[in-house]
Amino acid sequence: MKDGVRELAAEFKKFLSSREEDELIPAACSQAAAPSVAAQSQAPKRPQDHLTVSFVRKPSPAVQMKTEAAVVPANQKQAPSVILQEQTMTPNKKQTELDKIAAEIKSCHRCPLGDTRLHAVPGEGNPNAELMFIGEGPGFDEDHKGRPFIGRAGQLLDKMIAAMGLKREQVFIGNIAKCHPMVNPTDPEAHGNDRAPNSEEIAVCRKYIERQIAVISPKYIVALGGVAAKALISDTKSLGALRGKFHLLHLDTVELKAPVKILATYHPAALLRNPNWKKDAWADLQLVMSEMGLKRPHA
Ligand code: URA
Repeated sequence: MKDGVRELAAEFKKFLSSREEDELIPAACSQAAAPSVAAQSQAPKRPQDHLTVSFVRKPSPAVQMKTEAAVVPANQKQAPSVILQEQTMTPNKKQTELDKIAAEIKSCHRCPLGDTRLHAVPGEGNPNAELMFIGEGPGFDEDHKGRPFIGRAGQLLDKMIAAMGLKREQVFIGNIAKCHPMVNPTDPEAHGNDRAPNSEEIAVCRKYIERQIAVISPKYIVALGGVAAKALISDTKSLGALRGKFHLLHLDTVELKAPVKILATYHPAALLRNPNWKKDAWADLQLVMSEMGLKRPHA
């Protein structure tokens, strides 16, 4: 057991610059020895190529409370968008739907971020992904290129994905906010000008990530950081309290017929600032690997 875990730790070490393998082994051993509660009550597997998605017209009472709590100005409140019921989609059809959503995002001016962005960042990846990673919103690099997670935090996310035995192209990577939230919106060329999206920006933008989730219909989501975690788990607890276990995803405007399990972990930008948190992030990712039946690379 310990040798296997040592190999696993070595994989993760590729993104752990400040930790030695031996420091990781206790954390990895405890994960391997104690499967998650969610893993024990795993839902039956469903086919990947034709996923059934159902949509509802009304948000649940809990969701209405959350929307009210976000204090959305009356003129920005959104009616639940919706559309299809019980529709099965092939990967090609999913890509077509994602392209339509991306086109809407690129022409969106529903909040002031739409006026100050250089590029909208709809998200990218496998339209049929089993796993989605969702962050809070684009930063400087993403705003300049129109692609998610391509800066320093994105490079670390790539290493995290690789440590799980996956390629970036196999997953879908998106954000809650699709345009760059800036401290000083008049200067998109300034570095260090990033901030988290506020509750109003999240409230007006979340319909896009919800529709993307509905189309992709992943089995698992990893929420990167507290902003994404709170928005998608619909819980105001701290990231520290939310991470380390699976939750059920709750969306405002879409009801997925098949449940989606969501796990919150540290944002890669936070891991760059606090390398000591990397071993906890790795423990979180191992929970996802165990649920998905993923083997470590080169096993
Ligand atoms: N941080 C995010 O939350 N998303 C990105 O796309 C880049 C950095």
